[in-house]
Amino acid sequence: MANAIINEELIQELLDQKPSQTEIDEILNRALSLKGISLKEASILLNIEDKDSLNKLFKTAKLLKEKIYGNRIVLFAPLYLSNYCTNNCLYCGFRYENKTIKRKKLTTDEAINETRRILETGHKRILLVAGEDTTQCNLDYVEELINKIYEQKLMNGEIRRININIAPLSVEEFKRLSSFGIGTYQSFQETYHQETYKKMHPQGLKSNYEWRLETMSRAFEGGLQDIGIGTLFGLTDYRFEVLALLMHSEYLEKTYGVGPHTISIPRIEPAEGSDVASAPPNAITDENFKKIIAVLRLAVPYTGIILSTREKAELRRELLELGISQISAGSKTNPGGYSEEKATEQFSIGDTRSLDEVILELATDGYLPSFCTGCYRVGRVGKDFMDLAKPGLIQKFCQPNAILTFKEYLIDYAGKNTALKGNELINKFISDMQDSKQKESLIKDLRKLDEGTRDIYR
Ligand code: SAM
Ligand code: SF4
Repeated sequence: MANAIINEELIQELLDQKPSQTEIDEILNRALSLKGISLKEASILLNIEDKDSLNKLFKTAKLLKEKIYGNRIVLFAPLYLSNYCTNNCLYCGFRYENKTIKRKKLTTDEAINETRRILETGHKRILLVAGEDTTQCNLDYVEELINKIYEQKLMNGEIRRININIAPLSVEEFKRLSSFGIGTYQSFQETYHQETYKKMHPQGLKSNYEWRLETMSRAFEGGLQDIGIGTLFGLTDYRFEVLALLMHSEYLEKTYGVGPHTISIPRIEPAEGSDVASAPPNAITDENFKKIIAVLRLAVPYTGIILSTREKAELRRELLELGISQISAGSKTNPGGYSEEKATEQFSIGDTRSLDEVILELATDGYLPSFCTGCYRVGRVGKDFMDLAKPGLIQKFCQPNAILTFKEYLIDYAGKNTALKGNELINKFISDMQDSKQKESLIKDLRKLDEGTRDIYR
């Protein structure tokens, strides 16, 4: 089964090709049609080394990003539930053999408290994260917390979409999870390279490469519609990982009619008690990281690319231009971290700014921060979402929903400078709108928000 999803020999063969300038130019031109590029074409772009061609690649990725996503950036906060783990991933601070960390699993009350701290900042989307220990974090626990989190109301806010990154499940368990009202289920392969995988995962259920690789197949079979894949960059050759991500994505699309909703691209960060995390075997330079994002953007134009707080603010700005569509902000990576600072982080965070600081910077740079949860709530998920996204029809929902949710943020949570900048930006977006009907209805809804109505979406 693993070979049907990832063909390592083919990846190696593709990576051995050296690109010619004409080939590169032809691929970049073809990519502008927004239909994606083939594995072979992606491998040629991944082999680009010279500055001129790299700049051309970045320019094309920027054009595509603008065409499909405009200036919108979706924001979310991770909520860590538990750092108990029976696996021993060598790069992770939560691994079983790390005896230096204080273990913690949130009680229901603590999870509610964390949710309320997150709500105070203005977030509407969260990602639940947990170490893999089913005696601590099982589906009964997850179900109870999801229900409690959705029940929380604070000021004018509530969590409107919960995504989840917990241990891979069986088909039966995924069936249960799909009834909990979650948005996307995420799980990362970490590395698709079998030999590296074995070295990095010496213990626990995660040491089984195939079980991990088949996670998303089981998730679709269990009825989940939106899934997110990813790899942890720094473990092996990044070019191998990008091609494998694309192969996995192609396999899912061919087999289940829909590819991943999102791709996450964490880079290894230092983690307490992990030598691998302090000195990653294949550390990724900033330049190569930019290349990874640009190639993914060209290859799967409609798949969201998620960047976490792991990246420093300055670099994040550049990465946004190249293709990132979602970022976390104001994050804590320890269970209980929003309420207190004691529990050990899973890895250290590169960007420690508050949500409001991140939003001010985004707005100053002309980005439109979005807290939209519209698609998931009206059932535009899975294949229905992709069918709208591919011909570009999703834009008529995304842009107004981004403006409306950003306006809510500005009214209810923003600092003075952010409110000023944000309102300027919204006025500019509205005056630039071509469709007069859409413009009129948006202005009406913005007025309703000013008068106190909340949660308006298309
Ligand atoms: N335990 C589950 C798992 O491993 O899939 C889900 C939660 S785990 C905390 C989420 C992700 O954190 C992992 O999939 C891995 O990619 C990432 N991670 C682990 N150690 C990291 C490190 N040192 N730096 C950056 N990301 C890391
Ligand atoms: Fe556990 Fe996940 Fe960390 Fe591995 S990455 S040690 S499974 S929390």
